[in-house]
Amino acid sequence: MSDKVRVRFAPSPTGFFHIGSARTALFNWLYARHTGGDFVLRIEDTDKERNTKEALDVLLEGMRWLGLDWDEGPEVGGKYGPYFQSKRGDIYLKFLEILRAKGRAYDKDGAVFFKVSGQKQVLHDLVYGDVERMEEKDFPIFRSDGSPVFHFVNVVDDICMEITNVIRGQDHLTNTNKHIELFKAFEAPLPKFAHIPLILKSVGQGKMSKRDRGALIEEYRERRFLPEAVVNYLSLLGWNPKHDREIFSSPRDIAELFDFGGIVKSNARFDERKMAHFNTEHIRALPADRFSKICRETLDAFGLASYLNYPAEYSDKVFALCQPKVSAMDSFPSMVEYFFNDNYAFDEGGRERTFKKGDPLARMSEMLPFFESLEKVDASLLHDQLAALAEGNGIRPNDYFPALRYALSGQSGGPDLMSMAEALGKDKCVERLKRALSELK
Ligand code: GLU
Repeated sequence: MSDKVRVRFAPSPTGFFHIGSARTALFNWLYARHTGGDFVLRIEDTDKERNTKEALDVLLEGMRWLGLDWDEGPEVGGKYGPYFQSKRGDIYLKFLEILRAKGRAYDKDGAVFFKVSGQKQVLHDLVYGDVERMEEKDFPIFRSDGSPVFHFVNVVDDICMEITNVIRGQDHLTNTNKHIELFKAFEAPLPKFAHIPLILKSVGQGKMSKRDRGALIEEYRERRFLPEAVVNYLSLLGWNPKHDREIFSSPRDIAELFDFGGIVKSNARFDERKMAHFNTEHIRALPADRFSKICRETLDAFGLASYLNYPAEYSDKVFALCQPKVSAMDSFPSMVEYFFNDNYAFDEGGRERTFKKGDPLARMSEMLPFFESLEKVDASLLHDQLAALAEGNGIRPNDYFPALRYALSGQSGGPDLMSMAEALGKDKCVERLKRALSELK
């Protein structure tokens, strides 16, 4: 076996990319990148009915979106191919012959069985420690229809592909005994095994299923999460960086720290709010030009490309203003709508909150001549100017701010008010105060 670390992600395409699977892929990728080893993508597609081209695409697109590039596998090839089990039939037959020659395989009821050693095997798992077990019964390695069984093809491929480390979900822990039996029967060196804890659903005991909200990578893509935020969150499901830091801007930074010592044995619980929080933090930390680009792509994807007819200087200002407030890009179009649409709606809930106390319409009437008198709106002066206006009118400055925000945007929350007024500019502030006064009367 080579000295170089060789790990593999060996999914069976099902038509969706579950976060548990993605996390297994990620841990393998992190370990390969941490050690400078090879990351192999092997498609375990022996179940003919389920393995469609669409199912494979979901997986490959998901991997690419997450940024988990593979060194060998579909599309990139490699010297250990083919990387689809469906194309390795001849290899499996050759390996079956080896077992037969050693007297370790026999036919029964049309199937082919593997003859177990009758010896206790010890698995030295890098996460779960030593697990001792005796495989009591012979088990099938080829079905009566001639198709090979998972345990057999999985081990044969790990041998042929010279895999040094098997990193996979804890649900395979109980299979590993069978796998060790097979490795030994082939007199092949054992890879190191590391089983990683399950991901539990956010409430209750069960493991996260594909029906649970937040369970599929496709969902995050559709909701326009940042892939690096998803990777960051997934990396911490079952791994502890032993670091105060939780937010890592790039997967490469995580790879630098990643090792088996940090993998925790206890099952990890999925927390949708935490995932959203990571996304917010990652958005906040983006350089302005990258965030602008994402905003433009999002508006375009939502059929709102017309917003982008405004001068770039204006849109960039709006995007920068909203950046600290965006938690998910799928809510971004509604958040910025009023900057690009003079017929923005007046939000009902916002109206209730704004009109709950005081007399916002009176405040808007007082602010109108003030805005008309300005040469231009300057965010750094506006707060004090409005405070002075309030003093002159014998009211508190805080009575102006919610009224102004609601008039300018139709909302009761949003980005910094003074900067928002400056971005809109004097003429729009005046127009919008007039519009609010006539529509809200
Ligand atoms: N195809 C198996 C799975 O998706 C691979 C298990 C392994 O990594 O060995 O669970």
